[in-house]
Amino acid sequence: MRIFLKAMKVVALVCSFAISLCAFASGGAGAPNSDPVYQQLRNITLSGEAVAVTDLTLKRDAANFHLHSGTMCFVAPVQGKVTGAVFIGEGNMVLNPPLAVERSSLKLLTREDEFAEHFNKLVLRFTDGSYEEIKRAGAAASGGCDAGPLRDTQNALRHDRMLKYNLDARILQDVMSPEPGGLFVAFIHGKKYNDKEIFASDPHGAPPLIMPVAPEEVELITYDENRIGVWASFHYSSEYTNGVATGSQKNGVIHIEHQELDTTIEKNANLSAKATTGFVAGYNGVRVVPFNLYRTLRVQDVTGEGGQPLSFIQEDKNDDADFYVILPRALSRDEKYSITTRYAGKEAVSNEGNGNYFPIARDDWYPGYAGGSLGDYSSYDLTFRIPKGMKMAATGSLMSENTEGNQSVTVWKSDAPQPVAGFQFGNMKVEEVKLAAPQFLVSAYANDSPPDWAHGLQGETMGSLSTIVMMKQPLREAQFAIGLYTDFFGPLPFKRLAMTQQTACNYGQSWPELVWLPICSFYDTTVRHQLGLDWGDRGYWKVVAPHEVAHQWWGQDVGFNSYRDQWMSEGFADFSASLFLQSAYAQKGPKEFISFWDDERKSILEKNPQGYRAIDAGPLTLGYRLNNSRTGVSVTRDLIYPKGAYVLHMIRMMMWDRRSGDDNFKTTMQDFVRTFAGRAATTEDFKAMVEKHMTKEMDLDGNQRMDWFFNQYVYGTALPSYKLDYSFDNGADGVPLFNFKVTQSSVDESFHMLVPIYLELADGRIVNLGRARLSGNSSIEQKVPLKGMKDRPRRAVLNYYDDVLASP
Ligand SMILES: [Zn+2]
Repeated sequence: MRIFLKAMKVVALVCSFAISLCAFASGGAGAPNSDPVYQQLRNITLSGEAVAVTDLTLKRDAANFHLHSGTMCFVAPVQGKVTGAVFIGEGNMVLNPPLAVERSSLKLLTREDEFAEHFNKLVLRFTDGSYEEIKRAGAAASGGCDAGPLRDTQNALRHDRMLKYNLDARILQDVMSPEPGGLFVAFIHGKKYNDKEIFASDPHGAPPLIMPVAPEEVELITYDENRIGVWASFHYSSEYTNGVATGSQKNGVIHIEHQELDTTIEKNANLSAKATTGFVAGYNGVRVVPFNLYRTLRVQDVTGEGGQPLSFIQEDKNDDADFYVILPRALSRDEKYSITTRYAGKEAVSNEGNGNYFPIARDDWYPGYAGGSLGDYSSYDLTFRIPKGMKMAATGSLMSENTEGNQSVTVWKSDAPQPVAGFQFGNMKVEEVKLAAPQFLVSAYANDSPPDWAHGLQGETMGSLSTIVMMKQPLREAQFAIGLYTDFFGPLPFKRLAMTQQTACNYGQSWPELVWLPICSFYDTTVRHQLGLDWGDRGYWKVVAPHEVAHQWWGQDVGFNSYRDQWMSEGFADFSASLFLQSAYAQKGPKEFISFWDDERKSILEKNPQGYRAIDAGPLTLGYRLNNSRTGVSVTRDLIYPKGAYVLHMIRMMMWDRRSGDDNFKTTMQDFVRTFAGRAATTEDFKAMVEKHMTKEMDLDGNQRMDWFFNQYVYGTALPSYKLDYSFDNGADGVPLFNFKVTQSSVDESFHMLVPIYLELADGRIVNLGRARLSGNSSIEQKVPLKGMKDRPRRAVLNYYDDVLASP
């Protein structure tokens, strides 16, 4: 290894003197990371070229870098392109995001009106013409260049466990492209907020430094272990005016159309595979393509069309191991190409004992597009080879199942384009049920032996650890949920669903036509108590299967491309579980349904160990950005699932009608699913769908828009309080008279809401009397004769079905 690295240094040296020679040498295949142009970028240092700058402002979208005075030292050119500089001097950076929600989020983080960072040191990496701009504005200078800050940046990107991003390979993309690049990254040694700040702007989506924020192009993050987070993220400012600033924007390097994956997993969990990936170029000049592949899956070789070996990049598994492939030539926009990757590794799947396996590389066990997420759909052909006697459950339809030697070989084909592919396997037993309407094959997979970690529990509880006897329950739940959700949301493009047991105890996951259920959801309450899992009895175990089944609609059929829209995936799945509880336990009345919504409200409103209520941490559309060391690392979970669910519940309740019940709501949801099947939907897409079907009563602004509602609950953090004072009198002709006063408080003056009033009748029935329309902090007082009612009601209640998310 050491010898190899030394040899590379020699190549780099040669190249810096003979640029044209390097151009010829590049594209040659061989060992990973051996491309000479890449090596030049990997080992880049300052060239000695420097300029003195005074009062120079670099405007990069919403950021203004004011360089009052100092020296800018450039890095050595690669392929004639200068891709970086180190600034030493006096400067500051002012960030003014184009979105109000971003400005207020920054304000919350800094407790100041303006984000202005000061620095004496700045490391820049770019492909956007910064070199020419700075050089033009500066005066030639010499000496005094310190390469230390550049080296620190390179080390942080490679080894800092908060970052591990191969920026050299990202820069290579633009250096090898015949088209001009647009990347700008600033490593800011801030003196005021943090000395580990990065501002980045990339036309193909900002780099996934802390978490993916693409397709947004601009971000400001800190990677300090004690203050890690995304401070701001947004589209290019101009995109907000020309209408392309959406979560479904396609600005990626490629779009993958088809994956053919031939995967072998051995008894010891070693995985080896051959992946043929067909894709189309997203812009002119695509030469280097970033893929997402789990770091321990080591690439052996990559071949192009016609079998020619291709050069690729994959650094050490403990470093910035991002997988990039260098194509033999630059593609033009919409041009198709296909590569074949052979790779293998040990730690992508874990052997949990007794024929239980757990896929650790959940969605990166094959090379997907690194900038993609649950909104990029591809077709899949999968072949799995696992030890004979074991069972495989994968996404798609099972085309064949054979034994070849000591392997069980199954072939799967996607029924519709999928945002992701996954699998579950082991010594499993299978049970199946065929549904008639809709036509669906539902199956359950469980392992009769517990994984190693559950061994301590054996003994008297051993009998109850067998999950086989419990298989019938997920089978029944899936059957019921598919029928119910099809009625509410419309049919799926899928034909089957496998409910499989996974050895991770406390979470489930959904795939197209496949669900992983946590093994602990198969256990009874006694075993779960032994495992210390009583927390889940708040309702988690009851809804985990219906929640995951609902993701077939929310996430798999209708996709969500951006973190800003993820609240719909999780929230709608949680909401669907409420429909399940309402219908499945209907004979018990609304008890399960109401206690579900009470629990959801508690998650949103209870203070976490950091002293924050999830609702105050920020709006739903900040998604996983809300998790940080200050407000808590589970605050997003406590917000987007339950509050996302509440948003849809409130819409359902507003649309509910005494005569037609849920008809209008069902029409809305079915229209939404039909319109966005097989592609990504955004929050604005959903809002437009609600506006298309909203009732007259919901039009509180009189403009056929739902801005009032979305601004309060989706883009905002409003939480009203309500009070009902009432009495019943005898009216003149013996008709009971209902006198009431509803008060709304703790809100802005612009806050509107429809607040339903329910009566519990003398015979115990609950009826909806109507909805009070309230604005700001105000009250409504009325006397209503209860015509046709002989006896006085027992009581009056607001929001009986938790119709409005409000303080309890
Ligand atoms: Zn979920």
